[in-house]
Amino acid sequence: MKPIHERIIAINAEQSALYVADEAPRLRYWAKHPTFFGCIKCMDGRVLFHSMTNTPIGIVKPFRAIGGKFHVWWPSFLGRVRHWVDKAVSIGSRNFLFVTYHYSAGDAHLGCAGWTYDTSAARAHAERLCADLGSVFSEQLTAVVAGVETDQDNLILHGPNGDVSGASLIGASPEDVAAAIRRAFPRMDPLTITDLVPFMLGNAERVKELKASPRGRRELGHNERIIAIGQGFDWLAEANLALIINDADPNLAESIRVAASLIEKNIVSAPPGDDAAIFTCIPYRDPGVDERQAAARARGLKAFTESVVCTSCPGLFESGRLHSMAAVMWEPNKKIDVIDAT
Ligand SMILES: [Zn+2]
Repeated sequence: MKPIHERIIAINAEQSALYVADEAPRLRYWAKHPTFFGCIKCMDGRVLFHSMTNTPIGIVKPFRAIGGKFHVWWPSFLGRVRHWVDKAVSIGSRNFLFVTYHYSAGDAHLGCAGWTYDTSAARAHAERLCADLGSVFSEQLTAVVAGVETDQDNLILHGPNGDVSGASLIGASPEDVAAAIRRAFPRMDPLTITDLVPFMLGNAERVKELKASPRGRRELGHNERIIAIGQGFDWLAEANLALIINDADPNLAESIRVAASLIEKNIVSAPPGDDAAIFTCIPYRDPGVDERQAAARARGLKAFTESVVCTSCPGLFESGRLHSMAAVMWEPNKKIDVIDAT
């Protein structure tokens, strides 16, 4: 097993190359499906839209927090959603936001640790958040509550007239899928429905695959090694490797504590050399001030995270198995540049 730093750098090199190679297909995809898609989701390493829906990396903009527990009043969160909505509106596109919660049908303890496995509380939060976003953005944003069943990666959209899920659409044609969405969401704009169809078709395909060859328990449960903090982690999309925390979270320390306790549990059964890491990363576009502020944030987040883990999980911190690394990422090619590693 490669050291964890090298694993992160290798994944980034590979994913950055794929991201660049996918630029043309992504642009073609957007030309055909102009609606902007985003998702609110848990930091859980198992909730991955592109593998769940067989769509290219970079099509769905992720907003991640522990348990998906964003609140509309978080200034930094609301500012980022607004920036994203405004960008779509400025070019005449629509916005669609999946407001997700996740659970496991087979074993409650494979559900969301961020909600201590309480699926109804997680769903109730998603419904509240969805309503709050609706009251802010009104017709500029279509926000839909969606459950993710992680045993089979089933994506379930909850509509005013019932549910639509990948599992219920196996074998369906694009026309059937559009009709099913229209039945569940009678007021949804027809263009938004058209652009939502590929996600649900892809999800039906994914559920079919996992029904035919189910994953083992180890793959289903938490097995992450990395606490990733900052922004722009689309490329760190290897399933079940990283717990990703957006630094818009005003309860950042609490999210770090939960992530560190999960990593501590995962490490116990891992063989020697299969270590863990704190990894902070901030994207930038322009050299100069933009790059320097990204570096300052990444370094500061690394020191902050280390101090939280040192206090909350001293065993993990002093185990000699927790490494840390800060990086900046050039947005256009998603390539990271490590600026500090210990
Ligand atoms: Zn979760």
